Amino acid sequence: MGEFDLIARYFHRPAVHAALGGGDDCALLQPAPGMQLAISTDMLVEGRHFLSTVDPARLGHKALAVNLSDLAACGARPLAFTLALSLPQVDTAWLEGFSRGMLALADAHGCELVGGDTTRGPLNICITVFGEVPRGQALLRSGARPGDDLWVSGSLGDARLALEVFRGTLSVPAGVFDAARLRMELPTPRVALGAALRGIATAAIDVSDGLLGDVGHVLAASNAGARIDATAAVALMSAPPGDPSDGADAERRLGFVLAGGDDYELAFTAPPGARDAVAGAAEQAGVRATRIGQIEAAPGIRLTDADGRPVVQRHASFDHFA
Ligand code: ADP
Ligand code: MG
Repeated sequence: MGEFDLIARYFHRPAVHAALGGGDDCALLQPAPGMQLAISTDMLVEGRHFLSTVDPARLGHKALAVNLSDLAACGARPLAFTLALSLPQVDTAWLEGFSRGMLALADAHGCELVGGDTTRGPLNICITVFGEVPRGQALLRSGARPGDDLWVSGSLGDARLALEVFRGTLSVPAGVFDAARLRMELPTPRVALGAALRGIATAAIDVSDGLLGDVGHVLAASNAGARIDATAAVALMSAPPGDPSDGADAERRLGFVLAGGDDYELAFTAPPGARDAVAGAAEQAGVRATRIGQIEAAPGIRLTDADGRPVVQRHASFDHFA
């Protein structure tokens, strides 16, 4: 199968809302009047972002999900995406699964595949998503203010637990692993929550590299610091603890939640007066939102227990070049 047959078979889709879809030199998008385009790119490299053994349909889902998660963090509605794909060979079973997983998530969000590029090389997947958001209403990292609550959607830490089981550093009961593996391989981008938080949240980010690091980006952009309740944070993990008397287990769970990465939840801030509004947005979006701390004027992140006593922390978020 040649390059153009491959594109036609697996990646060409008729345009629905786009003014022009794939097949020409450019695609054309027409944002509605009063809307701004929100654009984000994420690349997935074999061996770095995913295991070579992963099911291709799950990989297709995840490649798009991590990009939709960035739109969610801005409160943008997905419109379209492009796919740049480097493939070592034409493997039709892989292409069928990959495109099916990716396009199912695309259809669920009304996000059209409008073009891309296809080349031979090491397996590498790069997606650019385009979304729209009413002018001036995008959620940014820079809006957090001292006194704001710090919130997190859904659950944290489970994807990292699954990764550690794959790496062989940890073993857990099969049911716990299966659930954690779904969080790692089929993350849920919080698109509806992001949109519902427009006009409510003061700042937002998606948690991809780990809670501490990603909240750190919000704090840097907002010129602020934060206090995080470690007990509330650790309760965000879905996987149940092992032996409750095992201190190493508790410490490891805290590490997964604070610095695990690959969560694709939203961390966001909102004034205490907006608690009911946040709860309403979360309910409307069908996801839990949990308050885990507060923005403070002093820079840095202070980890406390439920009573506000300091907790020593030695966890760092993922950095490709650290
Ligand atoms: P060009 O040489 O003009 O860059 P290409 O030959 O690379 O065009 O691609 C032909 C058409 O197929 C273009 O419209 C491009 O957007 C689309 N396309 C290429 N690869 C992909 C892909 N992986 N997914 C979706 N569309 C693709
Ligand atoms: Mg090209």
